[in-house]
Amino acid sequence: MIKYGYIRKIIYFSAIDGPGNRTVIFLQGCNFNCLSCHNPETIPIFNNLNMENTEVQLMSVYDILKVLDKNKSFIRGVTISGGECTVQFEFLLDLVMNLKKHGYEVYLDTNGSLEISKFQQMLHFVDKIIFDLKVFEEKEHIKLTGASNRKVKRNIKIAAVSHQIYEIRTVVIPKFIDNYKNVDKISKFIASLDKNIQYKLTTYRQQGVRENLLKTNSPSKKQMSNLKEICNNNGLLNVIVN
Ligand code: SF4
Repeated sequence: MIKYGYIRKIIYFSAIDGPGNRTVIFLQGCNFNCLSCHNPETIPIFNNLNMENTEVQLMSVYDILKVLDKNKSFIRGVTISGGECTVQFEFLLDLVMNLKKHGYEVYLDTNGSLEISKFQQMLHFVDKIIFDLKVFEEKEHIKLTGASNRKVKRNIKIAAVSHQIYEIRTVVIPKFIDNYKNVDKISKFIASLDKNIQYKLTTYRQQGVRENLLKTNSPSKKQMSNLKEICNNNGLLNVIVN
């Protein structure tokens, strides 16, 4: 049976979603509701979408392969993002299996919340994972995203063991939590798994976010470099600020 996915958009060439030049496929729907979401239009789950009034397209794996094959020789690989790409698990699994069969390097950009057994299944067909670990303490994570982070931390541990983490990212937003404590705890957690894992501290910027955050300023360069220093002091060897 042909499976269809709800695709928000495809960017054919991106240099910020993994190594090299990549095509990025954004799947519609997310199971989190982050205060800081830069793409809130990708959150509504597809069942609730009015398909006549949206940019979301229904595409089969075959449709996607046809589109990708045109640029195959110009890209290093494909990154699948969202929304939260794992929300469409059956379609995503079919897509990654077929991308591998066609010789693509496949990365997933995920909030990490997929059920553990499904995550382990997915890892067989994916080269690397880009995780968001937004907040370390579960209570604060629920406050900022509407969801627990227990599975996120478990999945990060699983992917660390198989050396399939490309990067872990945290957006630094002033005002809502103590970023020094949060980054301190996250960087200690990552260092306990593997000091070489790349950790990216992303500076919160107002563009694209919802109104409730519009009045929040970005952290200063000094604050970001202090946070980086905390990570380095905790032993992390690959810390990026952007
Ligand atoms: S996980 Fe990503 S897409 Fe989902 S609400 Fe949070 S920031 Fe937005």
